[in-house]
Amino acid sequence: MSEYTKIKPDLDFVKGVMDAGGDTVNRCYQCATCSIVCPLSTEDSPFPRKEMLWAQWGLASKVSGDVDVWLCHQCGDCSAYCPRDAKPGDVLGAIRANAIKYYAEPKSLANLLSTSKGIISTVIASMVVVLFVALIWSFVTGESWPIPKGTVEYHKFLSVIPIDIIYLSLAGFVAWVSYKGVTRFWEDISKGAGLGESYTGTAPRPALGPLFKEYVVPAVKEILAHERFKKCGAAAERAQGHLWTLWAFIILFIVTNLAMFYADILGNLFPNSGFHSPLALYNPIKILGNIGAVMLIAGIWMLKSMREQKTEEGIFKSSAQDWNLIWLIFAVGVTGLAAEIFRLIGIRIIAYPTYWLHLGCVATLFLALPFTKFAHLLYRTTAYVFQRYAADVKAGEAGFGMELPGEPEEEH
Ligand code: SF4
Ligand code: SF4
Repeated sequence: MSEYTKIKPDLDFVKGVMDAGGDTVNRCYQCATCSIVCPLSTEDSPFPRKEMLWAQWGLASKVSGDVDVWLCHQCGDCSAYCPRDAKPGDVLGAIRANAIKYYAEPKSLANLLSTSKGIISTVIASMVVVLFVALIWSFVTGESWPIPKGTVEYHKFLSVIPIDIIYLSLAGFVAWVSYKGVTRFWEDISKGAGLGESYTGTAPRPALGPLFKEYVVPAVKEILAHERFKKCGAAAERAQGHLWTLWAFIILFIVTNLAMFYADILGNLFPNSGFHSPLALYNPIKILGNIGAVMLIAGIWMLKSMREQKTEEGIFKSSAQDWNLIWLIFAVGVTGLAAEIFRLIGIRIIAYPTYWLHLGCVATLFLALPFTKFAHLLYRTTAYVFQRYAADVKAGEAGFGMELPGEPEEEH
């Protein structure tokens, strides 16, 4: 038997990593300094040295089954100390960008949303869909259009029912794509961690209840506090901007659901009861919404400034995809706030187009979740959950009553 193992490099994978900002990968000579200085690397499974080697060798399947890729927060500490300037932090970022495309279906949408032109086209296409629905709605209901007379009220431009239909359909599609991507990712990292294939019954398949209680809740708590992010040295300030942006999203998500219940459901059930949009400025839902919008703009501005500064200092590179997402989130916050201000001032001719643009930006951000860097929210959360779960499975403390694939029993 040959003592050598043949390696079949996936050259497309190497090219994909290099094109996505990991063009320094081949400089690495495996000194392991990066794994030593990384504040998030673990003793059991140090990174990013091994990922640099796998990426150089084009071992796509090894990398796709490697949960550690997602435990990196691209702080740049490793890149700052790398004696070969191989920028391992950027290489891991490029590997993640490729993984997002790999798990996204349809790929054409992932390719479209990976460029600024694609993002702008999607915003415009979303606006056209909204316009089309508004026209149909005005035709069916006989309401005035395109710029309704009188005070600015956005529900005159587009009633709550068609808007809910558009966005709930979009949310359903995004949830389905996200679910498919995350389950395939879970399967790959299960194999990578030696837990077998989750869906063939050779590895413990977590039951939903215990998985949620034992692993999802602690992982989410850690993410909400950004505990790991705060350990990063070279770009520790990034945690602040991330935290603001994350909490802004949470607030805006809660506000959207409350507003839907308040204005769309109660407002339609009891038309004369005062439950209708626009909500009064002193309404707690409105106050919370405005706080969320300001936090979103402030958080994304902090991220933008930090990224510019760290790119200038050479701590990490910022790819076009990083900037696309930053500008899209910024556009959502600014158009939302501007639409409210123009409505309050009563400038109809600017208010309605701004609101229309806002709707296009929001729809594009929805779509961006499983297809762009925004998918870090999905895969990194899954990686946090999996890391805990896999550790318990290996220690024999998880599996929820199922047989583990473990070591073969010794024969006596
Ligand atoms: S990336 Fe740099 S620090 Fe890490 S192993 Fe390679 S040469 Fe060493
Ligand atoms: S970028 Fe930061 S978290 Fe990622 S591998 Fe390097 S040191 Fe570790």
